[in-house]
Amino acid sequence: MSDKQAVLMLVKRPELWGLEQLGEHFDLRTVPGPGIRAVVTGGTEGIDAATMDALPDLEIISVCAVGYDSTDVAHARSRGIVVTNTPDVLTDDVADLAIGLMLATSRRIAQHDRYVRDGEWVSKGSPPLTRRMSGRRIGILGLGRIGLAIAKRAEPFATEIAYYSRNKRDDVSYRYAPDVVSLAASVDILVVATSGGKDTAKLVDAATIEALGPDGMLVNIARGSVIDEDTLVAALADGRLGSAGLDVFADEPNVPQALLSMQNVVLLPHQGSATVETRAVMGQLVIDNLDAHFSGRSLITPLW
Ligand code: NAP
Repeated sequence: MSDKQAVLMLVKRPELWGLEQLGEHFDLRTVPGPGIRAVVTGGTEGIDAATMDALPDLEIISVCAVGYDSTDVAHARSRGIVVTNTPDVLTDDVADLAIGLMLATSRRIAQHDRYVRDGEWVSKGSPPLTRRMSGRRIGILGLGRIGLAIAKRAEPFATEIAYYSRNKRDDVSYRYAPDVVSLAASVDILVVATSGGKDTAKLVDAATIEALGPDGMLVNIARGSVIDEDTLVAALADGRLGSAGLDVFADEPNVPQALLSMQNVVLLPHQGSATVETRAVMGQLVIDNLDAHFSGRSLITPLW
């Protein structure tokens, strides 16, 4: 019998999450049952209350992501199960990708790459003009770790940066908007960087999208749940919203069919933290949190 701690592994592609070494440290299981003291899961997979309750010996859930909205954290807490995530280590990559999405969407980088590959440059000549990114007013919805990193990167491009979070920050000079709709009405580009979950579900609604308007751009690197996706798709289709750069969707990996043929959107398969460097650090942080727990040391990144 193994002297390694039994860990239920819920991450579907461990090699993409820096978790391929997990089996060297722990006795990995794929089916819930007694004796399992830890769960490793992802931001998308999460773990629900029923699965936790099929694990009578569960002590710790280690989420290999900063967003833990798909894990029933309240249930874990009520059972005395601790939860860790991977904050900070992925902030730079997600912020980089947000800037990339803004540039790609305004200058149609992905669309024009397809234009060249498809031979349209030869058959049709130069494509239509795009819109510039420099000189824009940029709004950040959720000025947390990632939102602030996006704002700092956006400074050279923006004439003004504004934000909305529930709490106004004292440590920044960016303009604070009192609500989401007034933020959207006062910017050209709105970047969604809030946490997911029920508190932010459809925070970007029809009124927000209307306020952003026909020349506005919506960028989402947070969670698909934060945007009313049906309303977004309809507004993009009939020109009430100008464009969108989306890394996340309501029902991943399924993307609304209508978006696939639109030229005013850039679509990514949830790539915010997906670099070799960052995923290696995230995976190591998962292992280090579990090691700390099983050796009685303080957790490195507990949720509480
Ligand atoms: P964070 O530091 O906790 O920031 C979250 C921000 O959201 C805070 O500014 C918070 O401010 C705001 N917020 C929360 N609830 C809100 C509400 N109801 N209304 C308005 N603002 C609200 O988290 P982070 O590290 O920046 O990560 C943010 C999110 O990015 C994660 O939760 C995750 O879902 C997503 N993410 C995506 C990727 C990707 O691959 N695309 C990768 C990493 C993370 P207040 O508390 O003041 O409201």
